[in-house]
Amino acid sequence: MQKVYTLRKLSGQGLVAPNWLADLNPQQQAAVTHSSGPAVIIAGAGTGKTKTLVYRVAWLLDRGVPVQSILLLTFTRKAAEHMLSRVSEFHPAGQQVTGGTFHSFANTLLREFGHHLGYGANFTILDSSDSQDRIDLLRNQLLKNLPKVRFPKKGTLLDIFSSHRNTGRPVEQILDQDYPQFYSLLVPVEKLFTAYQEHKKKYGLADYDDLLFLCRDLIRDFPAVRETLHRRYSHILVDEYQDTNPVQAEIVEKISGPNGNLMVVGDDAQSIYKFRGADFKNFLQFPDRFPGAAEYRLEENYRSVQPILDVANSVMSQASEKFEKNLFTKKPDGKLPVLITASGENDQNAFIISRILDLREEGVPLNQMAVLFRSARNSYSLELELNANQIPFEKRGGLKFTESSHIRDLIAYLRLLLNQKDIVSWNRVLQMVEGIGPRSADEIITRIEQDGVEAGLSGLVSPKYRKNLAGLRHNLLNWMNGTELKAIAEELITFYRPVFERRYFEDYPKREKDLEAFLSLAAKFSSVEAFLSHLALDPVDFSQEDTLPTHPDERPLILSTIHSAKGLEWHTVFIMDLLDGILPSTFSLDEPEELDEELRLFYVAVTRAAENLYLVYPGVSFHRQFNQYFTRPSRFITGLPDRLLEKWLLDASPDQPLLT
Ligand code: ATP
Ligand code: MG
Repeated sequence: MQKVYTLRKLSGQGLVAPNWLADLNPQQQAAVTHSSGPAVIIAGAGTGKTKTLVYRVAWLLDRGVPVQSILLLTFTRKAAEHMLSRVSEFHPAGQQVTGGTFHSFANTLLREFGHHLGYGANFTILDSSDSQDRIDLLRNQLLKNLPKVRFPKKGTLLDIFSSHRNTGRPVEQILDQDYPQFYSLLVPVEKLFTAYQEHKKKYGLADYDDLLFLCRDLIRDFPAVRETLHRRYSHILVDEYQDTNPVQAEIVEKISGPNGNLMVVGDDAQSIYKFRGADFKNFLQFPDRFPGAAEYRLEENYRSVQPILDVANSVMSQASEKFEKNLFTKKPDGKLPVLITASGENDQNAFIISRILDLREEGVPLNQMAVLFRSARNSYSLELELNANQIPFEKRGGLKFTESSHIRDLIAYLRLLLNQKDIVSWNRVLQMVEGIGPRSADEIITRIEQDGVEAGLSGLVSPKYRKNLAGLRHNLLNWMNGTELKAIAEELITFYRPVFERRYFEDYPKREKDLEAFLSLAAKFSSVEAFLSHLALDPVDFSQEDTLPTHPDERPLILSTIHSAKGLEWHTVFIMDLLDGILPSTFSLDEPEELDEELRLFYVAVTRAAENLYLVYPGVSFHRQFNQYFTRPSRFITGLPDRLLEKWLLDASPDQPLLT
């Protein structure tokens, strides 16, 4: 007699909990178990869009979709890592899913297929400071004879070029509308743009925009590449789709093909990257571009208490272009968000810190609290006070590790190992040699270009720096010969240290920790190329100088720009400096569309809070020119009905002033 024995699903083989989908509401379940073909989830903040994508990936794996066939694209690398670690709670293969940002995905594709476009596997990625340096270099070379008029700064030029490429607006129109003061310089600006494009191509360099455009060109123009990708990825999922720009949209759409399994998720009301060419209207047109695409809507918010959602809804009702959504939750009760008018900046800081300390005593962990602001510089004075009060914090969206000058020095050496044509890095590296100034650096570079590195660095050089140059030459040649990255990094730091102490004699002890951080980061990568790409694409968010070692066991408070807070949530959120001119920013005040973008930014900030929301602004602010001046609260908060907010007055504690 034969008997059928059904095997159990063992842990480590498939999904751990048989009833795992019960965590989701029926709409979420429907989206997770969507059968095939394109699909879009349009839903408000905190309704579980990201959660749904996580479950969808797990569901696909459970259905036997091979792990290599799934591609998950997110806005930050951290988001992808976080989502995949959630998936791996359900499915052991979760961590092996390919996940990351558009830029890192484009980088991988270019390294693999870039030869079709004349890019070798060793091309260098320019981060935005690099791009600016190149533009500056070209400007000095090309426009030397330009009469001394006010020319846009290198950062502005990069913005103009990037905006031109991402939005498709002609340079002329951009100057006319956004930078009328430079309109008369249209011809040289356009000339510089062309030169910049040619320079990158000639030296095997790609800036952030190039990564996306080149990747798009590969997929669009090379059927063999496209077909390989069609075979490779059977399922593509994209979070925060409202912030993809047209070239990113084209990339995913082309990889998945018209009938492909593409699931995109987003919230039009949270679109905050217009300056990079994102347009929420593109997102809403998804069903038109994919006729027959399934549409899923999620309605219930699981993140915030109702009084916070009431504020969020009221914020959105101020938009000149209306959104359909109205957020609601079944969570009972909840406290009214609080509006705090501080007398000045000090008072604002004192309030935020006092309240954080109160809540910490009440048991809210520091890392469940966040202070959000419009731009990184808004929090400088708060950072000083947090330090003084020994509150550890982590800052997101501010100065990046790789933007500090000493780290850029180290990167310049490593770049030369991959690309000996990189004149900007040569310039930096040569001028770090004692005795070599810009003129000698130029001469040496010309020789390197003619005779190669070895001869170029040892030809006829002044005895003044011959010995120093010999040290550089010896090391570079050694490292170029393919030593292991970890060993290179260690030798590099040893070699660099005397340079470092001379170059930053004023404050090098403060920078010292970054060198250690550089070493331990390098140890995680197998090749110079992988390490440099990582630094350019996912820059470590803050310099070690900013962290406080005093509380090694306590996970720090979060300080973040609103842009970097997208998709995240905290028990308690403070939004500071809510002033007209900051949020909304001065530049947006005359344009309804820009003002709407600022309003969406405020909406994103408000919807990060789960239990407590504090809206803070200083009534008086410091301004160098006027010494002090009265401020105007943000029109976004004066536009809120009184009943939605509680108002607090501040009273300094007489015996124990917190701040002086
Ligand atoms: P955002 O628009 O800010 O990106 P989102 O729509 O992606 O938000 P998630 O971050 O996925 O929302 O979810 C918000 C919160 O709600 C998370 O804490 C999540 O765990 C919780 N959540 C989502 N769906 C459910 C559910 N069905 N039951 C309980 N909690 C849920
Ligand atoms: Mg999300």
